[in-house]
Amino acid sequence: MNKDKRVQSKPAQKEPIKRNKFRKYVPSILLFLLFEIVAVTLWLVKKNLFYLLNFSYIGGCLGLGTALFTAGKRYARHFIQLAVGSYMLLYLGVISHENMQIEGFWYYLFLGVFEAATIHYAVAKIFGPLFFGRGWCGYACWTVMVLDFLPYKQPQNPRKEKLCFLRYVMFILSLALVSGLMLIKIANLEQIMFWLFIVGNVLYYILGIGLAFVLKDNRAFCKYLCPVTVFLKPMSYFSFLRVHCDESKCIHCDKCLRVCPMNVEVNKESRKRKNGTECILCYECTKDCPTKALH
Ligand code: SF4
Ligand code: SF4
Ligand code: SF4
Repeated sequence: MNKDKRVQSKPAQKEPIKRNKFRKYVPSILLFLLFEIVAVTLWLVKKNLFYLLNFSYIGGCLGLGTALFTAGKRYARHFIQLAVGSYMLLYLGVISHENMQIEGFWYYLFLGVFEAATIHYAVAKIFGPLFFGRGWCGYACWTVMVLDFLPYKQPQNPRKEKLCFLRYVMFILSLALVSGLMLIKIANLEQIMFWLFIVGNVLYYILGIGLAFVLKDNRAFCKYLCPVTVFLKPMSYFSFLRVHCDESKCIHCDKCLRVCPMNVEVNKESRKRKNGTECILCYECTKDCPTKALH
């Protein structure tokens, strides 16, 4: 009789394991569905098939990439960055002449047009961060798809708080540049916006790579210079997706602080943790925590 019981209990145990395995992938599925809702809504509202294809592609890459990441594939984040980043940089920017940089956002905003860069900013950088925080910075940005291959994944020096004001300087400069060009009613502004996109990106790569080597920190450009963080930081404070810390399990080994590329004080649970709005959801900290306090 005992033997019978043992034989019967095996399939019953397998079910919860299968369910747990599936549950791990729910955020990836939700992310894909979120992008599908945006894709279908914009396709129907704007009557333009491009939006369906564009957001389905990006959502598909993000869903697949985050699922690979959850499955423990180390290349997953690079895969998403390259798939989404190069599509936006090369196809949308260089081939289709859409300026998706912050200058393009100002340009479309002042024209009162809700397309291309204004939609991109609304989804990825202004309202999206309420759900997925700075997921854009961890998985899709075409600037760091290059910077993340540099040798300083973990910052080798303490954060330079005094340099953070530079992001506001960059933000104001981009706003002043586009509003100035529009006020003087310069001819061929569309063409100029395209060249601003090319020059702006080359400049960002030069500054990003230079700063990474000087400060020994791949993400130095993100921390000090990137103007987009002026939008990203306040919105991601309220992010639904975030790394939680069960402080009762923390043994203060500081491993998480050492591996974090963004200097987040992740061994605190509070949203007010130091540099909390810098988190790019890379989950390097959760992999290294010896007590599984981070999840
Ligand atoms: S901070 Fe700026 S450069 Fe860095 S990943 Fe985010 S958007 Fe890209
Ligand atoms: S290591 Fe952790 S706290 Fe730091 S950016 Fe990545 S997920 Fe956020
Ligand atoms: S790695 Fe884990 S145990 Fe160590 S300080 Fe961070 S949260 Fe605490």
